[in-house]
Amino acid sequence: MLGADTPGFDTLPRDRKIFAYYLYRAAIAGNDILFKQNHRDAFEIKQLFETLYYHSNGMASDLRNAVHDYLKFLWIHHGHYHHYTHTKFVPFLLSRDGLRAAAHHAAANGAAIPARRGETIEELLSRLDRTIFDPDHEPVQTNQSEGVDIVAESAVNFWDRGITQRDIDALPKKWQHKLNVRFARRDGKVVPEIYRIGGLYGEDLKTVSHFLLSALPYSEDDNQRQSIRFLLDHYKTGDEELFRQHSISWLRSNPVVDYLNGFIEQYLDPRGIIGNFEANVSYAADATLVNAIAKNALYFEERMPWPDKFKRSSIAMPVAKVVNVIVETGDAGPVSPAAYNLPNYNDIRRDHGSKNVVLFNIENTRSQKLLEKLVNEFYLPEYRDNVFKYAHTKVRPLKVYLHEVIGHGSGQPDPTMKTDPRTALGRVYSALEECRADVVALYHMSDPKLIEIGAFDEDEQEAIVETAYVSQTQGWLTRYDHVVGLQVREAHNRGNQLILMYLVDNGGDPNRDFGLDVIERDGNFYVKVWDIGKVRRGLGELLGKLQLFKSTGDYAGAAALFDRFGTHVNPDWHRNMLDRLEALNIPKMKAFVFPRLEPVFADGQMVDVLAHHDEDLTKQQLRFSRLQGSTDINAG
Ligand SMILES: [Zn+2]
Repeated sequence: MLGADTPGFDTLPRDRKIFAYYLYRAAIAGNDILFKQNHRDAFEIKQLFETLYYHSNGMASDLRNAVHDYLKFLWIHHGHYHHYTHTKFVPFLLSRDGLRAAAHHAAANGAAIPARRGETIEELLSRLDRTIFDPDHEPVQTNQSEGVDIVAESAVNFWDRGITQRDIDALPKKWQHKLNVRFARRDGKVVPEIYRIGGLYGEDLKTVSHFLLSALPYSEDDNQRQSIRFLLDHYKTGDEELFRQHSISWLRSNPVVDYLNGFIEQYLDPRGIIGNFEANVSYAADATLVNAIAKNALYFEERMPWPDKFKRSSIAMPVAKVVNVIVETGDAGPVSPAAYNLPNYNDIRRDHGSKNVVLFNIENTRSQKLLEKLVNEFYLPEYRDNVFKYAHTKVRPLKVYLHEVIGHGSGQPDPTMKTDPRTALGRVYSALEECRADVVALYHMSDPKLIEIGAFDEDEQEAIVETAYVSQTQGWLTRYDHVVGLQVREAHNRGNQLILMYLVDNGGDPNRDFGLDVIERDGNFYVKVWDIGKVRRGLGELLGKLQLFKSTGDYAGAAALFDRFGTHVNPDWHRNMLDRLEALNIPKMKAFVFPRLEPVFADGQMVDVLAHHDEDLTKQQLRFSRLQGSTDINAG
């Protein structure tokens, strides 16, 4: 667990801090929505385990630990599916008998076990039994495998069990393509349930809206004010057009304190359409380098390894922001992205641009001890010095900036294309787009422009580029514990696997050489970069293909590329990485604990906000749960 530092928060103007406080509460108020979206039982299971934990006085410490252990996983992943792999996990330490004992213990301690009306503890536990304990019951949350019914085979709670792809295909187009909807079966018919006040998740959205409304008078500029108004109206009506308007206003604002709130990323829907709830609050940090990159967006566009007709002739200066986050909930935290590029609507991006946000305090929080362990174990000796020296200080931020600022904004559809690439590419879109942005970043890492704008010195360039290639590919291998069953599922990971294997397999042509291999030394596997010039040629070729598929909406081409290079994992490499990771006892993912904001009042008015760093994950998540539905600003 890592604490997110908030340097400089205390010195923000008073009104900015008050604005941040209300948005912070709006973010917390929506956190439970993601549990409800993740699986139909996930929220109930979280409540059950929180109740057991609260009433664990006098419980045997082993049992209490077992309950707490599973509860921490539930908080981190918003339910019982892994945040990255979308596959199910079951309690590691807790048995069925243990859970039964804990439930009776808690009830004896006065807990009202949250059971359905008339249900006994035994009935409750037996109803939830397979969801909690059976790894083969609904094993995959978001299933995008070839040849399966991706709707019926995905356990995500975007539709009632039993609803199939064919059921959804039979609905009117406007329901099929809606961001904020769930599909229910009533009287044999599939009907949409809209996320809105008075509709699905209405109570949560009411509290979210209460705090958005409180924040409204403290908006920094008209665009930000408009963005909040549109969002409030969207939550009130469920009209997606209002969320699009919100996105445009949000895009136009460039404030000190900014926020996300809504149904935004679409990774959980195997079709890539329905959004999962996320929210955050952030404030601007130093942005010198990212602004210099943004200013040169057209320079990089002109040097893309794809035909001119797929290049943009003008690029609205990307709004590139480096921020520190104050809080992240739902899909945004406690497991945090390093950056984001929004909105996701392609036509809005085309007509209005996009906002690229890099989360500086998240990027920079890491454990030095952990880094040393990982690098010494997984990297060949010849790379270790440079990895320590450059990987996190220079390569990683630069890669994130290039990915977000240059990558996602680059390229354009073939002039004859009529459909949006996202629609044309369907379920491969997310993987292709994330991979494309990554390859853009790696490809331009050797461009002399980066020296000119001060990203690094000329004599560091070779080491930086080599470190970028090694850390991209070896870094992915060391995350093979994210791969379950030798199949890569998550969009970013499919992209990582594609980059690795495209280079290793020389694009599938044994007569070529892309200068990078996975070699075996003393029984362990390592990435070896033989020639950075050849690697760059391979990256250029791959990037050309990715852009061609995106620009022409070539679903078959993209799917074939991902199936060939981006899906299957070498079982020997997988086993080896898992063994070495296990021996190192590395925590599997980074989860963040955010500051506790405390409003300060004078004469009944909020006059200041203090940021305390005094919670651990458990304290924080229990507080978030206690705050659900509360509009009390004195509650903490
Ligand atoms: Zn991205």
